[in-house]
Amino acid sequence: MTSTFTITALSALEILDSRGNPTLQVSLTLGDGTHAVAGVPSGASTGTREAVELRDHDPARFGGKGVTGAVGNVNGELAELLRSRPWASLAEVDQAMIDADGTPNKARLGANAIVGVSIAVARALAGSRPLYESLAPAGVAPRLPVPHFNVLNGGVHAPNSLDFQEFMIAPIGAPSLPEAVRAGADVYRALRSLLKARGFATGLGDEGGFAPDITAPEDVLALIVTAITDAGYTPGPTGVAIALDPAASEFYRDGRYHVAGEALSSDDMIERYAAMVAAYPVWSVEDGLAEGDWDGWERLTARLGGTTQLVGDDIFVTDPAIIAEAIERKVANSALIKLNQIGTVTQTLAAMALCRRSGYTQMVSHRSGETPDSFIADLTVAAGCGQLKSGAPARGERVAKYNRLLEIAATTPLPYGLAG
Ligand code: PGA
Ligand code: ZN
Repeated sequence: MTSTFTITALSALEILDSRGNPTLQVSLTLGDGTHAVAGVPSGASTGTREAVELRDHDPARFGGKGVTGAVGNVNGELAELLRSRPWASLAEVDQAMIDADGTPNKARLGANAIVGVSIAVARALAGSRPLYESLAPAGVAPRLPVPHFNVLNGGVHAPNSLDFQEFMIAPIGAPSLPEAVRAGADVYRALRSLLKARGFATGLGDEGGFAPDITAPEDVLALIVTAITDAGYTPGPTGVAIALDPAASEFYRDGRYHVAGEALSSDDMIERYAAMVAAYPVWSVEDGLAEGDWDGWERLTARLGGTTQLVGDDIFVTDPAIIAEAIERKVANSALIKLNQIGTVTQTLAAMALCRRSGYTQMVSHRSGETPDSFIADLTVAAGCGQLKSGAPARGERVAKYNRLLEIAATTPLPYGLAG
């Protein structure tokens, strides 16, 4: 259906992300005058097989984190390529950028440069239609997702003693997206009061969740259950459930998982999760084991995959080839979806289509370094996958995504909730 289009202008700018590190803002104009801008996210607990984020490594600027090289690649080589001829589709543009880069992991031109251009093209092609409508794959029903609010931060996202990275609340039982957002904000507020009352600090981590000095993950789970109840909600699938992202690659060293002062084997770690999901309303565990521990992942999936969503993030890096291997080996039952892990919108949609075909659930995700760009909200609705994580219900770059969902909900009556 898409007729050909031309790109008349493409440029990038070095801007700051939510952590104060440089990232790219990409601007693009189509031949019909449509203008689009995209902000590029950046992770801190990255998988080793992610597409490469090109940094300047010039210690004299931003501690080496400058992106003038990636900006130069957009303004130079990519602008020249994209302006050179008419295009039939976003997929064609993305493939041309992959070919021009010439590496398997976008290391030459930079995945940060390429994904910014890809998002800008996708946004421009929506024209006056809602972005989620134009992104929706054929035959897929748009759906408003269950927001997964990261209310308590640890790991590399916070300077506390907590090894687990993310404790999220998921209002699975909410009757609508606006009610889910309200539940998230209510529990967040109740948690702040509870932490204060118990003498903990209420400073925030990178994703806007509180970062108190608590060591044992079970103690955090108990606090969150209390906060859910204090806020007037029911802990569990009929009300507000809990999702974890321990980000276990970050505390896996020398074949052991280092949690709260203990050094656990893969099997010890699996039993620790089994006890957590039995004692607390934890419905989903992301990166419960390290990205290199595939044998452990197989046993984790056999042990808990029948009852618990097991999400692969660092282990899958949104790569359809790796997800296909995981499906084959019965590793995890769900994939985290991050645009900049794979580097184009087209490849991201391919990873999502593979999950849909294979019965793997999906959660779309922000990065810990973000901009106010809300593209992932539309992507989540378009794919109908029913789950989005975008940090706490606080801080502008996090709520931009939730607020975009509220805007979509207000304009179109779409179903809300986990994909059936
Ligand atoms: P990152 O963390 O954006 O810092 O990589 C997010 C996650 O692990 O899900
Ligand atoms: Zn993760």
